Amino acid sequence: MSLTTIPQEKEVRGLNLIAAHSHITGLGLDADGLEPKPVSQGMVGQLKARKAAGVILRMVRQGKIAGRAVLVAGPPSTGKTAIAMGISQSLGSDVPFTTISGSEIYSLDISKTEALTQAFRKSIGVRIKEETEIIEGEVVEIQIDRSVTGGHKQGKLTIKTTDMETVYELGTKMIEGLAKEKVIAGDAISIDKATGRVTKLGRSYSRSRDYDAMGADTKFVQCPEGELQRRKEVIHTVSLHDIDVINSRTQGFLALFSGDVGEIRAEVREQINAKVAEWREEGKAEIVPGVLFIDEVHMLDIEAFSFINRALEDELAPIVIMATNRGLTTTRGTSDKSAHGLPVDLLDRIIIVSTHPYNADEIREILTIRAQEEEVDLHADALAILTKIGQESSLRYAANLIATANLIAAKRKSTIVEVGDVKRSYSLFLDSKRSVEFLSEPKEGAMELN
Ligand code: ATP
Repeated sequence: MSLTTIPQEKEVRGLNLIAAHSHITGLGLDADGLEPKPVSQGMVGQLKARKAAGVILRMVRQGKIAGRAVLVAGPPSTGKTAIAMGISQSLGSDVPFTTISGSEIYSLDISKTEALTQAFRKSIGVRIKEETEIIEGEVVEIQIDRSVTGGHKQGKLTIKTTDMETVYELGTKMIEGLAKEKVIAGDAISIDKATGRVTKLGRSYSRSRDYDAMGADTKFVQCPEGELQRRKEVIHTVSLHDIDVINSRTQGFLALFSGDVGEIRAEVREQINAKVAEWREEGKAEIVPGVLFIDEVHMLDIEAFSFINRALEDELAPIVIMATNRGLTTTRGTSDKSAHGLPVDLLDRIIIVSTHPYNADEIREILTIRAQEEEVDLHADALAILTKIGQESSLRYAANLIATANLIAAKRKSTIVEVGDVKRSYSLFLDSKRSVEFLSEPKEGAMELN
């Protein structure tokens, strides 16, 4: 089976979610990775939880997390997603980060286990090494290791060129196999100008004798000394799910863009697992366990939990971080009450981290970072009023007002958001508390619902 891979496309939903956390570039820990700095890498406060996340990160790096999952428990808008994002960012920028909300697994199109399987496979990256074609005009680096030929100058010689002729002459477009072969001083190679195909002809080849026979489309060069290496190795990371989709005959790669993937047959996944294992053995690919973040995890039911329990044992498991704002609650699908709505066998294998509400200084700091991220200039008084809104309503609501207030400021041709813009924005867009009050206490002229 030949497999196709394409560079990862982030889903629209994923993009939106991540945009709210785009200011977070890590957990903001010190050099040892264990002590959180008060404000660092976009992270503010929440020191205990970040310290715990640092320990988890260390476990992940040492491969000690297998079979376990993390639960972040805390009130809304206290940075549960932000912390999961921070862990994922610390693992590397191409490490997949998938977020789903517990209720998303209930769909009419696909079964719960299929939805979860897809989420798990979206969170496992495959880093694929590919040698690339060289395009006209590109700067190409060619390394010639002089030490290979025993020449008197040791070390590497790097030639940078944009000239296609030189590229051809140095034989960088070697076909696979030949790329690994040593081409040494005096060797003759022929290069097909149309295809770039390089053939090693060896030392005994005589230019004067055989040149004509090769035809006009073939270029004949005497190699410079040393081993030629093709330097342009491109690494791209795709998720196992992406590979599933584009190789699934019923769906095809367009499904990646529409998101309308449907169920993927088990055989397809088995074939892909086998192929990826083969690539790993050949050194062509490596597995990158990413982070699967399951928000509102109490919305999952007992079947979903038992699926997760099993999936955590799998060799190809991502790091599963779950979040909830519930304390003691019923596990869906049962009549049992348990901590965070999780069944006891799963509770047994999780590490719990808790987050706490922010104080005014922390809210102000986070809003300042968000304003910078959105390139919005906030007047000090506007920031003060937003901070108050953040304390009384929610941090997320206050952060959302930054963009709307900025649009209002722009309308009056101001580049700075002033108190008036925030107030106007606050009156146009309700937070949930006011919205409920507004609907339940109909006043004159107010909307009434039957
Ligand atoms: P919910 O329970 O409602 O899903 P949550 O606990 O996951 O909320 P987040 O979505 O992480 O909360 O936080 C809300 C917003 O505040 C996000 O934009 C997030 O990036 C930002 N934020 C939260 N905590 C921090 C923090 N400690 N440092 C910097 N930004 C933060």
